[in-house]
Amino acid sequence: MSHIEPYIEADAIAAKTRELGAAISATHRARGTDDPLLLICVLRGSVMFFADLARAIDVDVELEFLAVSSYVGTKSTGEVRLTYDLSTELAGRHVLIVEDIVDTGLTMRYLLNALQARSPASLGVCTLLHKPARQQVELPLDHIGFVIEDRFVVGYGLDLDQRYRNLPFVGIYHADGDG
Ligand code: 5GP
Repeated sequence: MSHIEPYIEADAIAAKTRELGAAISATHRARGTDDPLLLICVLRGSVMFFADLARAIDVDVELEFLAVSSYVGTKSTGEVRLTYDLSTELAGRHVLIVEDIVDTGLTMRYLLNALQARSPASLGVCTLLHKPARQQVELPLDHIGFVIEDRFVVGYGLDLDQRYRNLPFVGIYHADGDG
């Protein structure tokens, strides 16, 4: 039978999210601007983290959404496509991309290139999870929640073929006969 081993509990996620929110707020406040910080949710995996992180930030924010598809089953295909775009211009804006996980880094590399080309005033990255063992490209990751082992995780927005996104914690997915 497949099963899910608890890995990062809901309380630990909540505590880390508060820390990240405070750091992101301080960084934006130090810019001395009245412009709101534009938070970009990368659908669909980061939706839970995005909603919680936004509430842990105490400077003005705007919420924007985009979607990419890059993953089929448990193996990365390396191919990234923008399947849903933002509804606002980025020129001159302070922008923070909010991701659930950076694995090979190919999705984030693609997003950084695509959004940088729209001339934001600044472009930062906050990822809840980072799997450095599998990273293939150098990336500026400004805010990282948890550095994790090379395991396939689900829950708190992360899926396996669209399942498990609603688990309130992050767990390691074990397939049939795997531990
Ligand atoms: P990357 O382009 O960095 O390899 O992968 C980014 C995307 O792959 C993430 O946004 C996520 O959708 C998916 N992904 C990578 N690792 C995992 C994992 O351990 N679990 C799940 N559920 N998705 C993952």
